[in-house]
Amino acid sequence: MTAHTSFFQNVLDYVDRAAALTNHPKGLLDQIKHCNSVYHFEFPLRHPDGSVEVIKAWRVEHSHHKLPTKGGIRYAPEVNEDEVKALAALMTYKCAIVDVPFGGAKGAIQIDPKKYTLDQLERITRRYTHELAKKNFIGPGVDVPAPDYGTGEREMAWIADTYSAMNPGQIDAIACITGKPLSQGGIRGRKEATGRGCFYALREACAHADDMKALGLSAGIAGKKVVVQGLGNVGYHAAKFCREEGDAIIIAIAEREGAIMNPNGLNEEEVFQHRKTKGSILDFPGATNIPNSIDALELECDALIPAALENQITEDNAPRIKARIIVEGANGPMTPGAEEILRQKGTLIIPDVYANAGGVTVSYFEWLKNLSHVRVGRMGKRYEQASEMRLIHMMETLTGRSFNDDQLKLASKGPDELDFVNSGLEDTMVVAYQRLREIWKTDARVHDLRTAAFLDAIEKVARAYAELGIFP
Ligand code: GLU
Repeated sequence: MTAHTSFFQNVLDYVDRAAALTNHPKGLLDQIKHCNSVYHFEFPLRHPDGSVEVIKAWRVEHSHHKLPTKGGIRYAPEVNEDEVKALAALMTYKCAIVDVPFGGAKGAIQIDPKKYTLDQLERITRRYTHELAKKNFIGPGVDVPAPDYGTGEREMAWIADTYSAMNPGQIDAIACITGKPLSQGGIRGRKEATGRGCFYALREACAHADDMKALGLSAGIAGKKVVVQGLGNVGYHAAKFCREEGDAIIIAIAEREGAIMNPNGLNEEEVFQHRKTKGSILDFPGATNIPNSIDALELECDALIPAALENQITEDNAPRIKARIIVEGANGPMTPGAEEILRQKGTLIIPDVYANAGGVTVSYFEWLKNLSHVRVGRMGKRYEQASEMRLIHMMETLTGRSFNDDQLKLASKGPDELDFVNSGLEDTMVVAYQRLREIWKTDARVHDLRTAAFLDAIEKVARAYAELGIFP
């Protein structure tokens, strides 16, 4: 594939590669590929000295084949329309791959959030929401944004509040956005969801002994040496769950200012605290400094999780990358040219459209929670607890032995919201991986998981259009 400077063109190329394996007519494929609505707007912000800055913003709805459309909002100084279009398109395919019934969208404000006061950020966010609402680019059944690079729960709360204030009495108003704080209608496990999803993706990939053998690795995630790029929400949680639940060893973590390495393993929380107090990831006790952050991607390791920004793995550094597995925590972290080089080396690439879909999956659960106005599990928890107890008592009677208090507590816990969220997420990630792997292993024309993922997504979106009667 040719290298493009356009991120959206890269996504189009991936779609074309998979679309060539289908029999769909060009018109349908064009309808699937291109962005349905692109809204670019600018609004003023007054600074304390009286000067006025005009701020650029976007919301792109890539596909209306299912509504609402869904996707995060990023705050970044370099963001541009091409990038928002690419990210919106990736959301369409991502939702289709994990069977989340939404079209894809993405939003952005071209600012460096670190350069603004809290008050200014709130004004910018509320004004952005206003502008979206004016043009019907936000709403529980229309377009539902979420956090992305540079935004989080705080911004989501401001958006929910602005939208609710503009729509008094609309009972579903807070479902206009996901990734909210718990007290504002958020759901447990949403913040961790993308990173947790990356962990499930890696764990599932490692569970296939044949695939691991082909990579020269043993089966199972335990003991795998992992390098993580980015200690933001995705990287932090990916590292945490790979280490805590997968028994993997996080041998290096890279951030903007540099990277650190310790072959015996790093604890992401300790590294996070160190960075917070020292202002840099470097000089972490017991670790070796890697002053040039990007060099960390070239370390000898089993798995690499790029969870920062796009275009980190390029034709330039791809030849030196030694990881046998790459889990794309970020969107578009490698260029198509880099992918080609890695594919020739036999690297297993777990593509972004699947690997980081955990976030939108749990966003879907949050949206459902908001629309149903009840916490999942609230009505059934005590009932399930009681039936688990009945079963335990039956076992005690049959065996003549009794469980101790700790065992009883563990066995009759009853599921709460977080249990449901995590089990829904785990099932979603495992089932989707198995389907993509099945396509990759059974269709001789499909040589990698990314093509399998795009093929799966295109077929699903095409089916939705066919069932709408738009295309035969
Ligand atoms: N921004 C996240 C993504 O790129 C989450 C989107 C969402 O939850 O709607 O997948």
